[in-house]
Amino acid sequence: LYLKALEIQGFKSFPDKTVLTFGEDITAIVGPNGSGKSNISDAIRWVMGEQSTRALRGGKMEDVIFGGTAKRKQLGFAEVSLVLDNSEHFFDLEESEVMVTRRYYRSGESEYYINRRSVRLKDVNELFMDTGLGREGYSIIGQGKIDEILSVKSGDRREIFEEAAGISRYRHRKEEAEHKLTRTDENLVRINDKLDELE
Ligand code: ATP
Repeated sequence: LYLKALEIQGFKSFPDKTVLTFGEDITAIVGPNGSGKSNISDAIRWVMGEQSTRALRGGKMEDVIFGGTAKRKQLGFAEVSLVLDNSEHFFDLEESEVMVTRRYYRSGESEYYINRRSVRLKDVNELFMDTGLGREGYSIIGQGKIDEILSVKSGDRREIFEEAAGISRYRHRKEEAEHKLTRTDENLVRINDKLDELE
């Protein structure tokens, strides 16, 4: 599994469509301060479903859209696509490449695609779950993350190991099932109340 390409358009400091192709020989991105290096890792985080604006170094989600410069008007939407190799079918998809796309409009509307098929955020999260990528993954270690890993509560640290061991998927499904059970129990109580009223 490796990151083949990243396409950025209208995201932060990248107003024009920019395609970064990562051959197996790229190990570092260098550039002067403020030139947009961290915006590239933000774009990767974002397309993998990041919802925390703090993690994206912004105040609100709109801040990811190119905000304009003295010479250029702001743009109406941001779009990022991440292309991953899937020739060994690491992801449960037939295609030999997986392209995940996220688009966000100033109006607040979001769109997600997997191989150009429109999907929900949940599908993107499930695609990356247990792979070490994605929102809860550890493939991007930002500044301060190491300290965080060393100092977080044991429960949070456990989540990192669960993701690495490939069992987060089951924890999420268990939590979903527990929520459904609680809702069903509540509905049953309500039905019984109604039945009592009718008797
Ligand atoms: P450093 O080495 O200092 O960390 P860097 O190369 O990582 O720098 P970034 O933090 O990626 O730089 O980029 C910062 C630049 O991105 C700033 O010039 C900022 O104005 C610009 N920028 C961030 N968000 C937007 C946006 N929504 N619209 C336009 N430009 C933006």
